[in-house]
Amino acid sequence: MADAVRTTCAYCGVGCGILATRTGERAVTIAGDADHPANRGKLCSKGTHLGETVGLEGRLLHPMIDKRRATWDKALDLVAKRFRDTIAEHGPNSVAFYVSGQLLTEDYYVANKLMKGFIGSANIDTNSRLCMSSSVAGHKRAFGSDTVPGTYDDLEEADLVVLVGSNLAWCHPVLFQRMMAARERRGTTLVVIDPRRTPTAEQADLHLAVRADGDVALFNGLLRHLAGSPAMDHGFVERHTAGFTEALAAASPSDPSAIAEATGLSPADLARFYALFAATERVVTVYSQGVNQSVCGTDKVNAIINCHLATGRIGRPGMGPFSITGQPNAMGGREVGGLANQLAAHLDLDDPAHRDLVAGFWGAPRVAARPGFKAVDLFRAVEDGRVKALWIMATNPVDSLPEADRVKEALARCPLVVCSDVIRDTDTTRLAHVLLPAAAWGEKDGTVTNSERRITRQRAFLPLPGEARPDWWMVDQVAQRMGFGAGFGYPLPAAIFREHARLSSLGNAGTRDFDLGGLAALDDEAFDALAPVQWPVRAGEPSGPRRFFGDGRFFTPDGRGQFIATAAPPSRPVDPAYPFTLNTGRVRDHWHTMTRTGKSARLSAHSPEPFVALHPEDAAVAGIGAGDLVHCDSPHGGMVARAQLGPGQARGTVFAPMHWTDRFASAGRVDALVAGRTDPVSGQPASKMTAVRLKRFPARWYGFAVARQRPRPVGADYWALARVEGGWRIELAGRHVPAIWRDFALDLLGGSEPTDRLIAYDDAAAGRHRLAIVRDGTLKAALFIAPAPLDISRAFVTAALDGAVEGADGYRLLAGRPGAGRPDKGETVCACFQVGCNQIRSLVTQGGGGSVAAVGAVLKAGTNCGSCRPEIQRIIEACKASTES
Ligand code: SF4
Repeated sequence: MADAVRTTCAYCGVGCGILATRTGERAVTIAGDADHPANRGKLCSKGTHLGETVGLEGRLLHPMIDKRRATWDKALDLVAKRFRDTIAEHGPNSVAFYVSGQLLTEDYYVANKLMKGFIGSANIDTNSRLCMSSSVAGHKRAFGSDTVPGTYDDLEEADLVVLVGSNLAWCHPVLFQRMMAARERRGTTLVVIDPRRTPTAEQADLHLAVRADGDVALFNGLLRHLAGSPAMDHGFVERHTAGFTEALAAASPSDPSAIAEATGLSPADLARFYALFAATERVVTVYSQGVNQSVCGTDKVNAIINCHLATGRIGRPGMGPFSITGQPNAMGGREVGGLANQLAAHLDLDDPAHRDLVAGFWGAPRVAARPGFKAVDLFRAVEDGRVKALWIMATNPVDSLPEADRVKEALARCPLVVCSDVIRDTDTTRLAHVLLPAAAWGEKDGTVTNSERRITRQRAFLPLPGEARPDWWMVDQVAQRMGFGAGFGYPLPAAIFREHARLSSLGNAGTRDFDLGGLAALDDEAFDALAPVQWPVRAGEPSGPRRFFGDGRFFTPDGRGQFIATAAPPSRPVDPAYPFTLNTGRVRDHWHTMTRTGKSARLSAHSPEPFVALHPEDAAVAGIGAGDLVHCDSPHGGMVARAQLGPGQARGTVFAPMHWTDRFASAGRVDALVAGRTDPVSGQPASKMTAVRLKRFPARWYGFAVARQRPRPVGADYWALARVEGGWRIELAGRHVPAIWRDFALDLLGGSEPTDRLIAYDDAAAGRHRLAIVRDGTLKAALFIAPAPLDISRAFVTAALDGAVEGADGYRLLAGRPGAGRPDKGETVCACFQVGCNQIRSLVTQGGGGSVAAVGAVLKAGTNCGSCRPEIQRIIEACKASTES
C-alpha cells in the first residue's frame, strides 16, 4: 500500500485535512488527518466518501472543439485567438472569466492576473459571489478589510454560540460536531436563528424562526438592547470605533412589538435572546448563506458586527462575528482578487496607489481601473451581447445562477463559450464551443484557504488522466499565446504561490490584513511540505493562531472599527399569484450540482430525489398529500419535485435543495425559479427569497425502478435518478398512461435477453404493474407502477439489485416488502455505516436505544462523522412519543 498523502477535503469551507492512500489505479482510501487543526481527524459523510468519486466515469479527458476531440495546441490557440480578436474589435470588457471556489488559489491567482493585469478588464467573477460576497462587503465596511477576525477554537471557547442562517449540522458538519463536543464539556448555550427548523435548529436551546429577511430588525433590536445594558463597552466604542450614534439611531423600530412584527418572533423569545446575548461575554455569532443570500445581506452582516463592536466582543478568545464560507476555497479566491470588484492580495481596485503597486509588481501593461461585472450582471452582459467571449472554470452556472433558464439562453447565444471542467457532460458544458479537460481533486496541486484563514496544501495522489491539465496551466498557456509571455510561464504551483505571497507583503508593513511575506521564500521542497498555516504570516514574525481586532486596531483609514447604520427592509407584500416564499439550500450528503457526490451510492442514499418541503397545513389547502409530486413555479421558471411535508417549515414558505440538474432529474433545477434580485452593495443574489406558487402535479401513475444500467426514462413526465450500489434507482411519474406497459418497462430498463427470466404482475383495472428481470439468477432490474404514490420499501428493493433471486424471492420482491423474518433496514440515515431508519426504530422500540450514544454503541450509526446524529435523535424522540401516546 502506498504512503498516505496529506491533502484537503474538496467540499466545504471547514477545510478538513485528509489522509488519502492509493489502493489501486483509481482507488483510494480516505481518513481524517488527526494532525490537521480544522478537523483533528474527523470527517463528515461527504469527506468520508470522497474515495467513491475519483473514478473516471463521465470525465472530460481530452480538449474538444465544437464537440470534436482536438489537440491542446489547437484548443489553446483557438481560445487565445478568439479572446484576442474579440478584445481588438470590442475592447477588453467584451471578454470575461467566470470562475469558482473549487479552484485552487494558484489557479485563481493566474486567472485574475491575466484578466485584471494584462487583458485590462475586471470581468472576472466567481461563483463565490453567490455564497459569501455579502460577508466580504460587510467586513470591508466595518473593518476596512475582508477579515474573518476569529478562529474555529472560538466556537469551542464560547459560552454562547449564535448561528444565523446556518444549517451548520449539515453544511459544515465537522465544525458543528466540534462545537457540540465543546458544548458537552462546558455547557455552551446554542441559539439558532433560521426560518426553518433545520437539524441544527433541533439541537438549539433556543430556536428563533425569524421571518425571511427579518435579521436586520432582530440585530438592530439587539443593538438597542445592548446600548442600555451593562454589556455595552463604552470604552472600546469610544477608543476604537466610529459611527455608533448613527447606527443606534437607525436601529429602529425600537419597541418590542414592532420588532416582533418585523421578525415574526414573540416578544418573550426576543427578550430571552437579548438577555442571553447581553449577559454572555464569550459569544460567537456564526453566519452563513441565510444571511448573505439576501437583498439586504450586507446590512445583515453589519447589523451583526455592530453588536460585537458595541460590546467589544471581537478578536478575543470565544467571541466575535464569524462568517463561514460554503466552498473549499472561497477564502483563497478572496485573497487573490477572484471577485470583480477586488484587486489581488486584498488590494483595492479603486485605489490608484494599489493599482500602481500591482502594475509595477506584475509588470502589467493595463491594470483594470474599474470593477467588472458581478456574477448576475455578467450573465446579463452575455445575454445582451456586451460580453462576447466567456471562459467558465470549474462551475456550472446553468444550474447554480438565479434565473437559470435565462443564463442557459444567454450562453446559447454567446459567440464563444469556453469551459474548463472535470466533467464532460454538465448542463453548462453542453453549451460550450471549447472544452478543456481540467485536473480533478486528487490530481491537483496547490493550496486552499478555509474559513478561519488557514492555508492548507492540496496534494495530488492520482496521476492526471487522459490529457487533463491543471487550470493554472491552461490560463498560463492562453496568456502566453495572447502575447503576454513575460508575465507568465510558471513552471509549478510553488512558483505561483511564492509570487502571490510576495505581492501580499509588498508595501504592507502591517497596513493590510492579508500578508504571507513569511512564506514568500519557500523553495519547492518547503512548499511541498507546507503544514497548515493561518494567515497573516508576516516576514520575521512567528506564525500561529491569531485573531484580529482584539487590540482595537482596524484597517479603516482612521484605524477605527466602523458601525454601519442599517435599516430593516420593509416587509414584502405577499403576491396573491405567488403566495409562497421559496428558500433554497443544501442537503446533508450532496454538494453543489452533484457532479461529484452524484457518483457515490452512499451519498445518494439520503436524499435520492429533489423535494419541496412545505407545512402540512399549506399542503392540505393546496390539495397536496404526502408523497405527491408538486409543481412549483415562479415568473422565471418551474420545477417538479416530491412534496415533503413537515411542521419545521413555516406556513407560507417552502424549501427546495439546490443540487438537482437535468442530468439527475426531469425538472429539478431550483435556480430556474430564483429571481435575479441582488444585494445592492455586494451583488449577491437573494437565493433565499423568491415568490412562488405550488400545485399538485397531476400524475396518473407513479413508478419506481432499480436497474444495473442507467435507466432511460422516455415516456415519463417526471423522473429522478440516483446511484445505488451496483446500479441506479429512479422515481417516475406520468400524466399519460403508456399504451403497453411491458414495452415501456423494457425501454426504461434496457431491454431483456431471450434467456432472462421475467417475473410480472399486471392488474390493468387497478393500474398496477410490476416487472422483475432476472439474468443468470440475479436481479438485473425491477419496476413498480401504481396509480398513487408507491408504498413500497425502496431500501428492500434496492438491496435486492444484483442479488440472487430464487424460487419465491421474485414474488416477494414484486410485493415491494420483505416477508416476515426478513429485515428491511429502511431509508438510509447513517451514510457511513449504511444504517437505515427501521433498524434504529426497531432498536429504540425494543428499549436498546434511548440515546444517540446508545444507538451508536449497537449499530455504529452516528459514530463516524456525526452528520446523522440530529436525525437519529429525531427518530428516538418520535419513537418515544408514539410509545407514550
Ligand atoms: Fe469536507 Fe465535511 Fe470537512 Fe466540510 S466538514 S471540509 S465537507 S469533511
